[in-house]
Parts: sequence; structure tokens; C-alpha cells
Amino acid sequence: LVSVSGLQKAYGALQVLQGIDLTMKPGERLVVIGPSGGGKSTLLRVMMGLENINGGSITFAGKPYIHAGATPAKTAIDVQVRRSIGMVFQHYTLFPHLNVLQNLILAPCKVRGEKKSAATERANTLLIRFGLGQKATAFPSQLSGGQKQRVAIARALMLDPKLMLFDEVTSALDPELVGEVEQVILQLARQNMPMMIVTHDMWFAKNIASRVLFCAGGFIVEDGPPEQVLGAPKEERTKDFIDRVF
Ligand code: ATP
Ligand code: MG
Repeated sequence: LVSVSGLQKAYGALQVLQGIDLTMKPGERLVVIGPSGGGKSTLLRVMMGLENINGGSITFAGKPYIHAGATPAKTAIDVQVRRSIGMVFQHYTLFPHLNVLQNLILAPCKVRGEKKSAATERANTLLIRFGLGQKATAFPSQLSGGQKQRVAIARALMLDPKLMLFDEVTSALDPELVGEVEQVILQLARQNMPMMIVTHDMWFAKNIASRVLFCAGGFIVEDGPPEQVLGAPKEERTKDFIDRVF
């Protein structure tokens, strides 16, 4: 589904990704763990086309769409591929002046030219599925953190992504709200949505991952099934991290 090869990313003199090679098959759910500053968010942002890169390339479903040196998503094909990837961040990125329904239908109507009535129907179905049926006309400021994140996920799904990227989507939430957001992502997992997830939540990592990557210092240090990477890591650095964090 995704093939990352020789990916390098620097911010000025700081080399953040030092040559990442990674292949992801359809239906895989990759959990990315690792120390702060290790490049996890940068990797996801690059895959989403939000950053330019200094070396390497990424293909999605066989189509190259991220190229070194080029401004992100420069060609029509790049833009088209990038639109098939959805991303949700740690901090809610809802439009504050739009209500929940308007947040959901904005991109489908603007970007894809979908009819408002059709988008609204799809949006309402998603909101009900995510337990937000009563919140269609609420504004983001009237929602809890957990509700906002569920709306953010629903909004990303409105564009029918073929891959979802989640960057610490529960890290800013009160503990009692974490579960409701994780359940929505687990629901997507049961429908075989391919995803990459950065999380520090061990329970969630174990329950969602089909594969775990330990990423540190701009490298993928360890890559394997969750039982191995989380339960019996081979690399000393992975073991140290897991002992400290989880
Ligand atoms: P965390 O667990 O804290 O979220 P991370 O693994 O997601 O960490 P990144 O956010 O990818 O780490 O950051 C990797 C490195 O790149 C860090 O040293 C960070 O300071 C640096 N960095 C990230 N974004 C920028 C930027 N826009 N400009 C300059 N440096 C940046
Ligand atoms: Mg990060």
C-alpha cells in the first residue's frame, strides 16, 4: 500500500529522518512508538504531504507522490494521492466558526464538488455511528475534548481515505475521555482501515497494532509484531524505552 524508501528530512542542520525504509501492506495497522524528538510526527507529516523532504521518495498504491526536492504535492497526481490519506492530530483542528456538520461537509463540497444534501446525509450517518448524533449543530467550543477528536476523525473520513494517520490523538485528553476516542479508532480497525498510529498508550497500542515500529534518532530501530516489539524487544534501546514509558 505504502512504500517509503530512503526518506530523509532535515530542518536546517538538524537531520530528523535519516533514511527511513518502510513498506506497509493493505489492512496493516502500524503503531509507531519512540522517544520525544525521534521523528514520529515528522514521518507522519511527510507522508501526509505537509513537509518537503531532502531525500528519498514515497509511493502510495504504486504511485509515487512524495519526491525529494519538490514542494509537497506539486503535481495533479500528487494531490490526488494525498487526498486519499487522512490525518488527525493531537490538538483539535476543527474550524471554530463552523458547527459540527459544517466542519464535516466543507471539504467534500469544496474539494470534491459533492452536493450538500449528499454530504450532509453521509455526515449524519458518521455522526450517529460515532455517538455524536445530537451534536450536528453544536460548535467546537461546545464540545468536550473527546467529542472534538471524534468529530475530527469523522471529518477526515468524509473524504473516503484509503489510509489514516493518527498522531497522539488522545494525548491532550483527560483520562476519562481517552477511551471513547480509542473505541472509534478500534471500530475503524475492525473495518480493515489501514492506519499508522503514534501513541504512548500501551493498552491501545497492544489492541490496535498489527505491527509496531520503534522509531528513535531518525531511524526505525525495531519493526515487528506487537508481541515481539512491546513484549520481548530485541534491541536494547527499545527495551529501555518500553521499561521507562509503559
Ligand atoms: P514527540 O514524541 O515529542 O511528539 P516526535 O517523535 O513526534 O516527538 P518530531 O516532532 O517528529 O518528534 O520532531 C523531531 C525533531 O524535529 C525534533 O528535534 C524537533 O525539535 C524537530 N522539529 C520538528 N518540527 C520542526 C520544525 N517545524 N522546525 C524545526 N525543527 C523541527
Ligand atoms: Mg510527535
